[in-house]
Amino acid sequence: MPTFSDPVWQKPQTAPAFQSELSSDGTLDAVIVGGGIMGLSTALYAARAGLSVQVLDAGAIGQGASGLNGGQVIPGLKYDPERLIEHFGKERGEALVDFAASTADAVFDVIRDEKLAVPFTRNGWIQAAHTETALKAAANRDRQWRARGADVKLLDRAEIAAMTGAKGYLGGWLDRRAGVIDPLSYTLELARVASAVGAGIAEQQRVVRLTKEAGVWRVSTQGGAELRATRVVLATNAYTDGLLPGLAQTIVPLHSFQIATAPLPAELAASILPGGQAVSDSRRILVYYRKGPDGRMVLGGRGRMAPPSSAADWAHCERALLRLYPALAGIAVEKRWFGRVAMTPDHLPHLHEPEKGLLAVVGCQGRGVGLMSALGKRMAGYLATGDVSRLPFPLSPIRPIPFHAFRQVGVAATIAWYRMLDALER
Ligand SMILES: Cc1cc2nc3c(=O)[nH]c(=O)nc-3n(C[C@H](O)[C@H](O)[C@H](O)COP(=O)(O)OP(=O)(O)OC[C@H]3O[C@@H](n4cnc5c(N)ncnc54)[C@H](O)[C@@H]3O)c2cc1C
Repeated sequence: MPTFSDPVWQKPQTAPAFQSELSSDGTLDAVIVGGGIMGLSTALYAARAGLSVQVLDAGAIGQGASGLNGGQVIPGLKYDPERLIEHFGKERGEALVDFAASTADAVFDVIRDEKLAVPFTRNGWIQAAHTETALKAAANRDRQWRARGADVKLLDRAEIAAMTGAKGYLGGWLDRRAGVIDPLSYTLELARVASAVGAGIAEQQRVVRLTKEAGVWRVSTQGGAELRATRVVLATNAYTDGLLPGLAQTIVPLHSFQIATAPLPAELAASILPGGQAVSDSRRILVYYRKGPDGRMVLGGRGRMAPPSSAADWAHCERALLRLYPALAGIAVEKRWFGRVAMTPDHLPHLHEPEKGLLAVVGCQGRGVGLMSALGKRMAGYLATGDVSRLPFPLSPIRPIPFHAFRQVGVAATIAWYRMLDALER
């Protein structure tokens, strides 16, 4: 019987436990709270730059969003280049567009350069349009990225049907910079290489208190360990707790639910995503899908706000899969799991430094595999040099969302409303 969170990504038997010894002697250059892609990418590049760093995670490496996600490596941010330049001004906007363009490279480059044992396919991501409005948005996006030399292409109805094998799309957009990975292997492999270059990594170490004495941070864990560091980076994202007052109230954590089918029979597998691309569709409550390990179909979408209590809580994912691929009727769904995604009101990641040497990064809008890999590298650059221009986004004050406690109720109602609108457009 599957349990109620049973990911398709499996920790390799050979994956080590990360239990670096915590010493209260001396002062580290940085303690990183959170061992997901953000924390580990920061640790890897900071250690490579010669800094002494220690990562502490409340649980096991990969238990957060980084080990649970869909493994779609998608460049770009929520906004297209022209909107970013309009919002941030020419200089920062252009730099941000370059950063956004590079986020998928950050993943595939580290896999190549550090020889990470991560299954991947780099054959692109398709944004599939199911309405004329979505098609127009795709054409606009295509124009903007093509003008910047990106390897992208607009797809017509016949092309998208051939590439996806799915029903119901009018066309779409192919971004060849993108690809798919096994996200749990990627996270564990980042931890392995970060540790190999000297970063300490410790699991089951929840940080419960941060205090500052004479310019040095004292980091206390639930188990009673005390570390000292000149900088602390909170890389806790959607799993942010009360460690830094107000931070959790700057994001709305949403649940993303995923399913994986049994391995598909060869003939059926050949008719679905033969090129191995990832897909997200254009619905308000979008679904995203790809082929996964052993030729399974993996599909995800927004889930209910309360933790799931039965397999029925994934029924919307199963319906979406059959709507796209009626031929999958009768193929068993073998895996169901979920994780938390951090949304910010402006749909951009937020970087904070509320006190000197105390940094926090939150908000990836469900697109953090590339983003957090690239952002971690930039954060390491900032830690190593103190040059704030290494960070692609401006540091901003921590601004809790007004009426945060009621926000999730509002989100649940909005999701239900959007689902209904999506159903009407079918
Ligand atoms: C179901 C799902 C599907 C997704 N699909 C995709 C996708 O296909 N493509 C994509 O780009 N993005 C996707 N995302 C988003 C992506 O997974 C995240 O943006 C990314 O993994 C965030 O990485 P992170 O390191 O910032 O956070 P996380 O990986 O969530 O790590 C945060 C860590 O902080 C730790 N922590 C929290 N509090 C403390 C504390 N007090 N002390 C110590 N440790 C603490 C937690 O244990 C956790 O391990 C998906 C997310 C989910 C949930």
